[in-house]
Amino acid sequence: MSNAPVRTTCPYCGVGCGLLVTPGADGTSAQVTGDPDHPANGGRLCSKGAALGDTLATDGRLLQPRIGDQPVSWDQALARVAQGFKQVIDRHGPDAVAFYVSGQLLTEDYYVANKLMKGFIGGANIDTNSRLCMASSVAGYKRAFGADTVPCDYTDLEQAQLILLVGANTAWCHPVLYQRLKQAKKDHPQRKIVVIDPRRTATCEIADLHLALAPGTDTLLFNGLLNWLKREDAVDWDFLEQHTEGFAAAFKAARTSAGSVPVVAAGCGLPESQVAELYRLFTSTEHVLTLYSQGVNQWSCGTDKVNAIINCHLASGRIGRPGMGPFSITGQPNAMGGREVGGLANQLAAHMDFAADDVDRVGRFWGAARMATAPGLKAVDLLEAVGAGRIKAIWIMATNPAVSMPDADRVRVALQACEFVVCSEMFADTDTARTADVLLPAAGWGEKDGTVTNSERRISRQRAFLAPPGEVRPDWWIITQVARRLGFAHAFAYQSAADVFREHAALSAFENHGRRDFDIGQLASLSDADYAALPPTQWPCPATPAAGRQPPRIFADARFYTPSGKARLVAVTPRPPATAPDDDYPLALNSGRIRDQWHTMTRTGLAPRLASHISEPFVQVHPVDATAQGLAHGALAELVSRWGRMLARVQVDADQRPGSVFVPMHWSDALARLARADALVSPALDPISGQPELKHTPVRVRPFRAAWYGFVLSRERIALDDARYCVAVRAEQHWRLEIAGSAPMPDWAAWARWHLGTDGDWLDFVDPTHGRYRGARLLHGRLQACVFIAPTPSLPRSGWLADLFGQSQLDAAARAGLLAGRPPRGQADAGETICACFNVGQNTLIEAIRSAGLDTAEALGAALQAGTNCGSCIPELNRLLANVRRAA
Ligand code: SF4
Repeated sequence: MSNAPVRTTCPYCGVGCGLLVTPGADGTSAQVTGDPDHPANGGRLCSKGAALGDTLATDGRLLQPRIGDQPVSWDQALARVAQGFKQVIDRHGPDAVAFYVSGQLLTEDYYVANKLMKGFIGGANIDTNSRLCMASSVAGYKRAFGADTVPCDYTDLEQAQLILLVGANTAWCHPVLYQRLKQAKKDHPQRKIVVIDPRRTATCEIADLHLALAPGTDTLLFNGLLNWLKREDAVDWDFLEQHTEGFAAAFKAARTSAGSVPVVAAGCGLPESQVAELYRLFTSTEHVLTLYSQGVNQWSCGTDKVNAIINCHLASGRIGRPGMGPFSITGQPNAMGGREVGGLANQLAAHMDFAADDVDRVGRFWGAARMATAPGLKAVDLLEAVGAGRIKAIWIMATNPAVSMPDADRVRVALQACEFVVCSEMFADTDTARTADVLLPAAGWGEKDGTVTNSERRISRQRAFLAPPGEVRPDWWIITQVARRLGFAHAFAYQSAADVFREHAALSAFENHGRRDFDIGQLASLSDADYAALPPTQWPCPATPAAGRQPPRIFADARFYTPSGKARLVAVTPRPPATAPDDDYPLALNSGRIRDQWHTMTRTGLAPRLASHISEPFVQVHPVDATAQGLAHGALAELVSRWGRMLARVQVDADQRPGSVFVPMHWSDALARLARADALVSPALDPISGQPELKHTPVRVRPFRAAWYGFVLSRERIALDDARYCVAVRAEQHWRLEIAGSAPMPDWAAWARWHLGTDGDWLDFVDPTHGRYRGARLLHGRLQACVFIAPTPSLPRSGWLADLFGQSQLDAAARAGLLAGRPPRGQADAGETICACFNVGQNTLIEAIRSAGLDTAEALGAALQAGTNCGSCIPELNRLLANVRRAA
């Protein structure tokens, strides 16, 4: 491959940032910068995108197909997959097999998987992990607009005068959109930003108003706004009467459930003044953009929440014009592409459904052997059917449901018991891969070619810049090969991703005539060279453009995709979550992302600098709840729900709403023990969208009373089965394991030698009276491993110890420091990393603030570079500045 920069797209979140990648000469590294010409990011990146070049090493990769534990040829593996599926289909019919796919797949992969299942196997049991992320938005848009049409565009961020961020911690989860919002606010300080979120998150730093509403009360809040709009005569009656239907019932439902500001304030747990302030801002501002994300979608009432928001935009006519509209921001890089090709079990392809004429049209276009005629099972139900034995063969592609599904322990047991499990995976050892009968090595980001669609309907190319290692192959190729072995060679004759894309584009235009929103007919005749050079392109882009239907203003003509052409206001009534907290499980668990990790960390976990910001699973608890439950900051806690349990480090934080706790969703068994948040999570579903209630599970949180606490630093990754709590963190030259155990250990020196080896010399400090041990193994004077054990969680920081792994010989001072448990005189400990891009630690920042009198994030940037690359850490820099100021 050449060393010229390659234009491609970030594989993480739904912002869909463009990248310029310069591959390294070694074939496993690359320099990654933001693409200044990409409309989504204009050159910006967040910490995750900026660290992509650190995630390309092939350790841990699955490089060859496997049947059981045995490496096999592709031919053997593909034959086994085809035979396994065929046997089940022949014996039990097409509904006994399933595909569980992912928003990480490229559109071309997704298209082929959906075509094989719905057009040729003849079932519809293909669903995607995007079901967990944005299915409620899809359902809400379809109810309101008659199609899954995102009516907004990122330029609206700069054109809106009022931005409502609902259930969206954009500073951490969509950082480049946050950067754009922040810049827009800086350019026009009169622009208002309101954050509606039970937690005070980093996003609140740019907020004029933060409404820390009670979890799940968004429908009440927006019903109250709808009622207010009517009462204050702020409704756009012309728009309502000409372009919508259902408004009388929606107004009635709003009045009945949310008839006054005091009623809404009491129900939402908010001061009346804040509710009234929000309503006044909405009423008095023409250009209002409501950005929402998983905090809205991941509820058993998620679809109703979405429609409560859309109702307010329709009632006020704030849609279809610049700087306004209800804007769902997707979590995954290609959640939108999955929606386009029918990756959801209740959709067909090209935004068509299972209506008889759609089934007929798609069947004719595909020349389908056996067309599915009814929706299949949605993700949670699909995995439940695996557990119940109704689905006997499942093919899992690019996702890790043993970690990421609600009630994850049950999902893992279901997969272990399933007759035939196939996984297409990049990595050899994921929690789900451990359950597979056949493992197929799939190409990852940088190795595969195709397209993704971001939250603003913009299709961008992912381009390969690395040669695939080992026998790795792209997903579209793997699926195509299996389809051919199932007897469908004529319909799966693709030779390239471009072949698949052209067919996908042609289907979108097939018998469309402007009736369906998703039409990319203009791209159906791209040559291979055009496809290779395809610039970011927003849809719709039909072969013959229709007036009033051009991006970005898809509803500029106020014509919607319902049979009447009118948008629908949907009467919604606030509903409580499926399971309420009670005496046994008194706290409401919320789960979500952290700044520097992605999904189950299979890729971001490879970048040491991303692990240095937050390296352990934690539970964030309000001080009042911490006191009530006897939880101390920095200690360990056990969380228990009706579905499972988890161990996590306690973070006492007043930003958390009393009565609620927050845990990150990222940790899996591959990196930690008892740290899978989704093992706790309720499998309750939204009845319309099938999206699980990942934002609300009643739990109890109790101190985990360990007999000992400690950490191990080792050049090799080691297994510590006798530690009840164990989290492995990859660092530059070693692994760090945070550990704790409940059984007393009689001889720590012997324990350390058993786990860390006996070669070389051991230095030991043993204090049995106080339960302390420190030990280090040196080989030819070079540090190989060290262990610190104490009876409490207050162990010394390990930052300075990491530096010792870079030294070829430990001098006397370093050896003495190891035994004393503190840095040698003159060696500073940078502390917990705040800026991941430039590796700037908290202690370094505090010292600079105090000694040099620095008092702004800009000043810290000028002095230490912190926050000057991706800017993701700027909210934390400001928080640190405030804390130091307060302490002074
Ligand atoms: Fe990637 Fe960050 Fe951009 Fe999301 S915001 S696409 S994670 S660089």
